[in-house]
Amino acid sequence: MKKSALLTLTSLVQGQNRLHFTLSAKDLAANKDLKILDKAEVELVALRSGDKLLLEGAIDFRVEINCAICAETFVKNYSAPVHAEYIKQNPRLGRSILLTSDEIDRSYFQSETIDLLPLFHDIILLAIPIAPTCREECKGICPNCGVNLNYETCRCEKAATKA
Ligand SMILES: [Zn+2]
Ligand SMILES: [Zn+2]
Repeated sequence: MKKSALLTLTSLVQGQNRLHFTLSAKDLAANKDLKILDKAEVELVALRSGDKLLLEGAIDFRVEINCAICAETFVKNYSAPVHAEYIKQNPRLGRSILLTSDEIDRSYFQSETIDLLPLFHDIILLAIPIAPTCREECKGICPNCGVNLNYETCRCEKAATKA
C-alpha cells in the first residue's frame, strides 16, 4: 500500500502544527464495501509537546453507499472528527503498562515516523453508519409489487387495508 499519511515527529515544532493530507480511495484500501469517491481531505491541528502528539481535526469524504431499506445507491458527504493521541514509547517498556482506555484514540509508537493511515481508515469506517438510509425516512420497496415507494405510489397498501 502506498504510504501517503506519514508523519515525522521531529519535523513538527513544539506546540501547534497545521497539517493537511489528501487521501485517495486507493490509500484507504477502499473496496466493494467502501466506495470512496474523489479524495478524502484531512485537516488537522497537531499539538506537539515533547514526545507526545495530540491530533484534532476532521476528515471530509464522499462515499457511495446503498440504502439499507430500499437498496438504492446514493452518495453522501461525511465529516468525521479526528481526536487522537500519539505517545512515543521507550522500546524497553512493555506495551501493557501504558495502555489505558478512555474516550481518546491513543497509540504508541517507537520510531520517529508515524503512519496515520490506519487511524484515518478506522475513523472513516466508523463514520459510516451500519445501516445507512438514502433519506431521513426512506419508504422502502413495496414487498408486494416491488416499486420504490420514495418515487412511486402503488395500490397494494390501499387494497390490503380495504380487504
Ligand atoms: Zn432508501
Ligand atoms: Zn405495491
